[in-house]
Amino acid sequence: MKTALITGAGTGIGLASALALAEAGYRVICSGRRSDPLEALSKEIGDRAFPATLDITDPASVENLFDRLPEDWRAIDILVNNAGHDIGGRRPFHEGASEQWAAIIETNVIGLMRLTRAVVPQMIARCSGDIVNLGSIAGITAYAKGAPYNASKFAVHGFSQALRLDYLDAGIRVLEILPGVVRTDFAETRWGDRETGQAFYDSYDDCLLPEDIARTLVFAVSQPRHVSLTQIVVMPSSQA
Ligand code: NAP
Repeated sequence: MKTALITGAGTGIGLASALALAEAGYRVICSGRRSDPLEALSKEIGDRAFPATLDITDPASVENLFDRLPEDWRAIDILVNNAGHDIGGRRPFHEGASEQWAAIIETNVIGLMRLTRAVVPQMIARCSGDIVNLGSIAGITAYAKGAPYNASKFAVHGFSQALRLDYLDAGIRVLEILPGVVRTDFAETRWGDRETGQAFYDSYDDCLLPEDIARTLVFAVSQPRHVSLTQIVVMPSSQA
């Protein structure tokens, strides 16, 4: 049975992806910093899930992840680099605190690269693997009051393209999914306030749901090995 490692699996797109991949027959390692949602999700999925606390901004946490997994769960077939945030975002650049935009880059870019670096050697050794990066429409289109988040997702976009080229002959596919607005905990986390988060999503006629992205992900990784869906932009139908 193939094994997927998903970051940020306790909520939103990561949670929906864990459920969808388990439904599609994969074993899922559900990772994130908060253990409660991971435990609850793993209980819901059953034998096919393993909860693992992981902070991708902490080199030690990434380094010792594999020691904390059961031996027969350590071969990763699909890495879903999903964890990310925009804490302190949606304000003119000079009004943001440098600690906050450094944390955005540290999580969305460096953390994603750090975990990829930890997983990719075993994929090279097996000459097989899929790396799915959660980019964003914010990684190809800039918007006002989004500089740190835009910078992070433009970086994910460039990293994904270059990574794919490094492993063209290594049997490793690198896929980037670039969603528009998805109704998750993301906006609440950005502002640290549930009501403001909900109001943000309510201001759109239409939002994507986490399940829409999860379905896209399962479709992408289910393609025959000679097919690589390298970049998939997913937008709510009513939005430009
Ligand atoms: P979400 O519900 O807030 O999920 C983000 C997840 O990331 C959380 O489960 C969080 O769990 C985890 N996380 C944050 N920092 C982490 C760290 N240092 N180490 C490990 N896990 C960490 O938001 P979402 O919308 O599902 O976001 C998932 C991805 O989709 C992000 O990369 C986001 O940029 C991208 N995206 C979202 C949208 C949207 O509109 N929602 C649109 C385009 C792209 P813990 O706090 O427990 O660690």
